[in-house]
Amino acid sequence: MSPRSTTVAIVGAGPAGLVLAHLLRRAGVDTAVHERLTRAELERAARAGVLEHRVVEHLRGLGLADRLVAEGERHGRCEIVCLGERVTVDYGALSGGARHWVYPQQSLVRDLIAAYEADGGTIAFGSPVAAVAADGTGRPVLRTAEGELRAEYAVGCEGAHGVVAAAFPDRAEGPARRYPYDWLTVLARIDRPVAAVRYAVHADGFAGMMPRTADVGRFYLEVPAGERVEEWAPERIRGELGRRLGLGGADPVPGELLETGVLRMRGRVARRMRHGRLLLAGDAAHTVTPSGAKGLNSAVADAADLAGALTADLLGGDTGALDGYQRRRLEAAWRTQEFSDRLLDLLHLPAGLPPEQREFALRLRLERIRRIAAPGPEGADFARAYAGAGQLTAAPVGAVPRPAAPPPSDAAVSPG
Ligand SMILES: Cc1cc2nc3c(=O)[nH]c(=O)nc-3n(C[C@H](O)[C@H](O)[C@H](O)COP(=O)(O)OP(=O)(O)OC[C@H]3O[C@@H](n4cnc5c(N)ncnc54)[C@H](O)[C@@H]3O)c2cc1C
Repeated sequence: MSPRSTTVAIVGAGPAGLVLAHLLRRAGVDTAVHERLTRAELERAARAGVLEHRVVEHLRGLGLADRLVAEGERHGRCEIVCLGERVTVDYGALSGGARHWVYPQQSLVRDLIAAYEADGGTIAFGSPVAAVAADGTGRPVLRTAEGELRAEYAVGCEGAHGVVAAAFPDRAEGPARRYPYDWLTVLARIDRPVAAVRYAVHADGFAGMMPRTADVGRFYLEVPAGERVEEWAPERIRGELGRRLGLGGADPVPGELLETGVLRMRGRVARRMRHGRLLLAGDAAHTVTPSGAKGLNSAVADAADLAGALTADLLGGDTGALDGYQRRRLEAAWRTQEFSDRLLDLLHLPAGLPPEQREFALRLRLERIRRIAAPGPEGADFARAYAGAGQLTAAPVGAVPRPAAPPPSDAAVSPG
């Protein structure tokens, strides 16, 4: 097989890879995207669902959020339950108007694939990149089942432990924290939609309830670190969710459990997101726990920034933005980790706390919860960080917005 070549090779078609591919293609940069999963597998994988205000605004400005805005829901309040008290945090008001959008990750991925293909892009699905090396000039060479792929740059949008990261001298490692607990993650059929994210700070461990679609909710239960999912029969899960979350009245009732798993709770930030002509974006460079719903949002923000920086370099010969990419995005990654860690600390009791001291710890947490729910600097700070207020610090140049779509005609076919 003769080697193929492209300008930017992208490994992984998750949110980071798809946004990057789309923006580069639109700016006129040749890209090749390899994804190890089949298209059906990728479009089925249910993970995130709570999207930041600024990320959706950015996607909207690029014409990539039409369906999200039509079908997604806006949420500006969450509830935190502690010692039987349910505190509503009106973060939409506290932040001055920033609210989340609720839209499943797999739907966003499906929309991004459709938009990329509509612009003439193709993705090699079911086609893992096995390894990345450098040629004599330092340019990346990717090994794929279709033969070698040569590129000016290779970007690892491959999630944690990927092949591009493995080609960094330090394997893109960096400071990490393993939390002393795990989360049981559950997707469950529900009889009515989740009206607001609910977090429960409970003597027996944290529990969470997140909106996804009208009849599916995402639930979390704190479990001991290393727990096996087999320990949790459906009845036990439903019982524990009801008890810790204080479900009743008009709350949704979790019914059929569609997916259960145990998420090993970790935070990690690579020391480097660039090594010569190799770059990283999204979970490939940093993983954050789902507590503040930040992973997908950070992945899109990285991709938007990197698209502008690569375009400026490749089409304008201006390397300044690319040289600053790592600094900008590592700073953002640490801000995200700090927020997520602070929220985890609020939502969990200290490890190994004897039962007789738990009420004291819960009472302290209730004070903190009331403070972030109240108008004032602390409430505003939490609300802005949680909702993702403001704008993405993205794409210094090059990310060219798509022209406004023509008004739909009778013959128009709805996307996707
Ligand atoms: C239960 C759960 C709930 C979450 N909730 C939220 C939320 O509400 N909000 C939020 O912002 N985040 C949330 N997250 C995090 C979010 O899902 C991730 O941060 C996000 O998917 C990261 O996007 P990415 O593009 O960087 O990586 P990924 O989505 O992991 O995509 C990487 C892709 O690369 C592919 N790949 C890997 N290796 C190769 C290879 N060698 N060759 C080719 N392809 C390869 C993979 O198959 C994958 O499709 C949640 C995560 C979980 C697990």
